[in-house]
Amino acid sequence: MIDTTKLEGLQAVQGFPFPIHTSPGLETRGRSIAERCTRAYRFLSKILEFEPKASLLVLSPQDWSGRSSHPVYGMPNYEAGNLIVAGEESSFWGSFVEMIKEASPSLLKEAQTTYGSNGRIDLAPFFDLLAVHELAHIFHDQVPFHFPRAWLTEFFANLCLHAYVASVEPEQLPTLETFPRLIVALGPHKFRYRTLEDFEALYTKVGPQNYGWYQCRLHLAAKKVYDAEAIPAVQKLWKTFVITDPQLVESLKKIHPEMAKVLTSWSR
Ligand SMILES: [Zn+2]
Repeated sequence: MIDTTKLEGLQAVQGFPFPIHTSPGLETRGRSIAERCTRAYRFLSKILEFEPKASLLVLSPQDWSGRSSHPVYGMPNYEAGNLIVAGEESSFWGSFVEMIKEASPSLLKEAQTTYGSNGRIDLAPFFDLLAVHELAHIFHDQVPFHFPRAWLTEFFANLCLHAYVASVEPEQLPTLETFPRLIVALGPHKFRYRTLEDFEALYTKVGPQNYGWYQCRLHLAAKKVYDAEAIPAVQKLWKTFVITDPQLVESLKKIHPEMAKVLTSWSR
């Protein structure tokens, strides 16, 4: 189920419940992201009552292309059981800092308060948290089932991320919440695509920064839902749309038994 061809040439990091591979020199950073993913895996498996197969890749820019399903270095993604995140700083992250700088001194000050490090703004602590968002995708991807809208798929991953941070690493909430708030505060006019119809039609093709803006909007919405209803909200969202094969058979039987047999009696 996991595409192991992506692991060739990388270094294995031992001691975790699922395989971890990093680019040479990124073992320490890989280890800290892996520790968080392990905690998040336990948290999500428990509340969603499902244990997917997962594998984590922490990559340098040199190792990104050919392994990542998204071309922009620093855009976290997943494919065939592999969670793929950047282990070094990315100019994609830096492009958001430039947008905040251009927008207003007060937003810049807020960014400095949360992400300031040695006189500069370092968004790595925020983007590192997104490994949990990608991990959440692996859960629905391996039942497998699809949410009926692209935005809802991303909302689910953001809700899982928020629930994890609020429940297991609450000290990281300012790191998680500030970036989306600042990007949404830039105003929609900064971005070409703004409607959910655009998002459904184009998804990641809206462009990396514009995609980030949609994710930030969805994160703010997910935070509101979590603050109102906490973990049961995650469980209800999952249970509303999850369809396993046995459940699918029951639904198909109600339409016509022959339809269910396509799945249950398929011969090679
Ligand atoms: Zn996502």
